[in-house]
Amino acid sequence: MDILKRLQELFKRFPGIGERQAMRFAYFVATADESYVRSLTEAISAMRKEVRRCARCYALSEKIVDGKCSLCLNPDTDTSILLVIEKDADRERFVKARTHTGTYFVLGGLAPAIEKDAHAHIRIKELHALAEREMSSAGLSEVVLALSATPDGERTEAILLNTLRSLQEKGLVVSVLGKGLSTGTEIEYSDKETLTHALRSRIAFE
Ligand SMILES: [Zn+2]
Repeated sequence: MDILKRLQELFKRFPGIGERQAMRFAYFVATADESYVRSLTEAISAMRKEVRRCARCYALSEKIVDGKCSLCLNPDTDTSILLVIEKDADRERFVKARTHTGTYFVLGGLAPAIEKDAHAHIRIKELHALAEREMSSAGLSEVVLALSATPDGERTEAILLNTLRSLQEKGLVVSVLGKGLSTGTEIEYSDKETLTHALRSRIAFE
């Protein structure tokens, strides 16, 4: 495979990037300034070295101390409410919206509606273990499932509700985002007002 084609294949694996865009990126890199390309490769390798996942919330972070990210370590974070999101980009949306004052948990994906073995992809067991632990150690009282209003998001929500049922029986409130997220809405592309409204109008499951 020629080098340009190989680079195109690599770019094609980026989320949301198709064949033609990937080829444009490959041509761009091929003709860009030497210094730009050097900064790009250095930034990628530095990121791979310095950015790691938090052992508690699984978010990617540059500042991991004792395995935890700064948000998980911050003593001012409200540990009574935990927001469950699909991916890092979604966490970023909520952090920017400044609506949520509690902690986060990154699932690492959604259960694809067409696949049978959904559990293999996402951190369901880890979420259950964390919620159980923090109910007794950190005063956790509510878990909010903040997933996209898509078929995969809804399916994942159903799986998580089922998983958290035993903790619900012990008094944990499990809620989902309310008004504001219309069908098909992805968290990653939602604006601040929508997220704020959806979080404030969350609905607790019986
Ligand atoms: Zn963390």
